[in-house]
Amino acid sequence: MPLGEFALIGRYFQRSVLEQAGGHAAVALGIGDDAALLQPAPGCQWVISTDSLVQGVHFPEQYAPDDLGYRALAVAVSDLAAMAARPLGFTLALTLPEIDEPWLQSFSDGLAQCAVDHRISLIGGDTTRGPLNIGISVFGEVAVGQALRRSGAQPGDLLCVGGPLGDGAGGLAVVTEQVLPQALRPAERDYLRARFWRPRAQCELGLALAGVASAGLDVSDGLLQDAGHLAAASGLALHLCSEDVPCSTALLAWPAAQRQAWMLRGGDDYVLLFTLPAQQAGQLDHWRQQGWPVSVIGRAQAGAGVWLDGQPVAGAGGYQHFKESADG
Ligand code: ADP
Ligand code: MG
Repeated sequence: MPLGEFALIGRYFQRSVLEQAGGHAAVALGIGDDAALLQPAPGCQWVISTDSLVQGVHFPEQYAPDDLGYRALAVAVSDLAAMAARPLGFTLALTLPEIDEPWLQSFSDGLAQCAVDHRISLIGGDTTRGPLNIGISVFGEVAVGQALRRSGAQPGDLLCVGGPLGDGAGGLAVVTEQVLPQALRPAERDYLRARFWRPRAQCELGLALAGVASAGLDVSDGLLQDAGHLAAASGLALHLCSEDVPCSTALLAWPAAQRQAWMLRGGDDYVLLFTLPAQQAGQLDHWRQQGWPVSVIGRAQAGAGVWLDGQPVAGAGGYQHFKESADG
């Protein structure tokens, strides 16, 4: 007999590992009632974000369900990291074409691994039948006035990234089984595969940036495009030096032109991009000692737009849905 909706929820989502992954007192009531109850800490604001994952757009046709579960939650949590928020809970709106129990078990296991890694609890959701679609809403908290916004950068601020760029695009090449360069070692290939399917949202770094960085976001659609969002929101120019943009050793297996294109315009990196007032530059070494590979890649200046090695960047060239109706 096929599993009913409620048995499915009970078996694969109302699991203690998912419900208790965050271990936060903030979740006063989780799965099982008509809605969840959350209680932010005194003096905190909610930080809320929603992401949808559609097969063929956000993830390749070939995937392992546990990787998909991990990635779906990680990319959503990255938006909390970008706002300098502490993750608390998430909801899952799952649309499935059929009930496939091995698929559900694997998906739930990957989701649980990500929930534990990012300390965020599953607090509810919805389960329906239809073409595969994964909608995740994440809920976090931040002290009032401490959220990291895209606006707020000032001329003279340092432009920094929280880690290497281009791994998301390189990882996509690996997972879609494109022809890979001979120089790519098996360990590097596995690293890139993991960077694509199991990105780690930079929550700890985001928390450290609260009240210190002047502006920030997460790089999901390509460095230049996301830098353009920060420049526009802050009303200034961002000048980047291409030589200072960091990449992993794995990407060195590709020709420089391909590597550069991925680092500047590839998507799916989920590292933080932020501006730091010059007087806070001393924090950079402190963060590096804590294991966050932060680097300075440019500066904010009066003006507009994104500049690379002194040249204005036209149409930053990252990923856009509905690109045919381009809005500039
Ligand atoms: P209702 O019909 O009142 O909306 P549902 O039957 O959809 O309630 O859900 C019952 C409970 O199970 C709710 O607490 C809901 O949040 C939770 N739930 C449903 N689907 C999921 C899911 N995919 N993941 C986690 N919790 C879920
Ligand atoms: Mg419902």
